Amino acid sequence: MSGKNVTEVVLANAAGIARAAQILESGGLVAVPTETVYGLAARADSAGAVAKIYAAKGRPDFNPLIVHVRDVRQAAEYADLSPAAVALADEHWPGPLTLVLPRRAGAIVADAVTAGLPTIALRAPAHPAMRSLLEAVDFPLAAPSANRSGFISPTCAAHVLASLDGRINMVLDGGATMAGVESTIVAVRSDGRIEELRPGPIQIGLQAAGGGIEATIEAPGQLASHYAPGKPVRLNALEAAPDEFLIGFGAVAGDVTLSAGGDLSEAAARLYAALHEAADAPQPRIAVAPVPDEGIGRAINDRLRRAAA
Ligand code: AMP
Ligand code: MG
Repeated sequence: MSGKNVTEVVLANAAGIARAAQILESGGLVAVPTETVYGLAARADSAGAVAKIYAAKGRPDFNPLIVHVRDVRQAAEYADLSPAAVALADEHWPGPLTLVLPRRAGAIVADAVTAGLPTIALRAPAHPAMRSLLEAVDFPLAAPSANRSGFISPTCAAHVLASLDGRINMVLDGGATMAGVESTIVAVRSDGRIEELRPGPIQIGLQAAGGGIEATIEAPGQLASHYAPGKPVRLNALEAAPDEFLIGFGAVAGDVTLSAGGDLSEAAARLYAALHEAADAPQPRIAVAPVPDEGIGRAINDRLRRAAA
């Protein structure tokens, strides 16, 4: 769609979900709340619909998309599920865990979804609106974050509109997202090895893959520079310079805080809203207080490093 088109904003009630299903059915784009961030959904089985995601986001075509499914059963139509994969899915689905698995031969998914990789990234999300939508359609949904490529991920409908208004058909408004950072991504190899490709809300007690994921094209979305607020970002700041907007945490108060009480889940939920606010603030620079690198704090620091890169 071009910038002249109208983006409908519809509440995520039964009528809204029915309308979203209809748009997706006919190959359109709908931004949908998930428990992590808002996703920009299209039917994964349509090359034309998937191409619209890349165009609306300005996303490089080597960056594959996560495919959202209802459950393990639907996942099995698209990937070869090893016992290790099934165990992870049973434990964490529906929820913010994405599994990168061998793509099943004959899986009906547009090639652009996997960017030519022999693997496919699958997730069964927990958000009730996304779940209802997946129940309402008979195809899985490819959905990256609903923002222009490289910029800050959206955690509410207003964030989506700020970057994609006029470029997508609809935003299903389900309020602010809960987890605030994108799903944990793990690869389950055919030999049973499990590697974390992106830290996220779910901790599965694995070391990050050696050498950093950026080293390979395998997880190209893990580009060093991503989530960019469009201004220089300084990390581990204990106080603000005069020209800085300070995002605080715990004892470091800041212009806004991720969590005054030092709660990491709260900090994750507020991360992107704080970055959006910092991006819109008059100060030309952004500083961010230190965040402990444990639990979901690893995901927060991962996103902050990319915002600062
Ligand atoms: P986004 O939806 O913008 O958070 O990006 C989704 C991310 O999932 C991509 O950028 C990749 O890092 C990852 N991903 C998707 N498909 C694959 C795959 N087949 N192999 C490895 N990583 C993947
Ligand atoms: Mg993204």
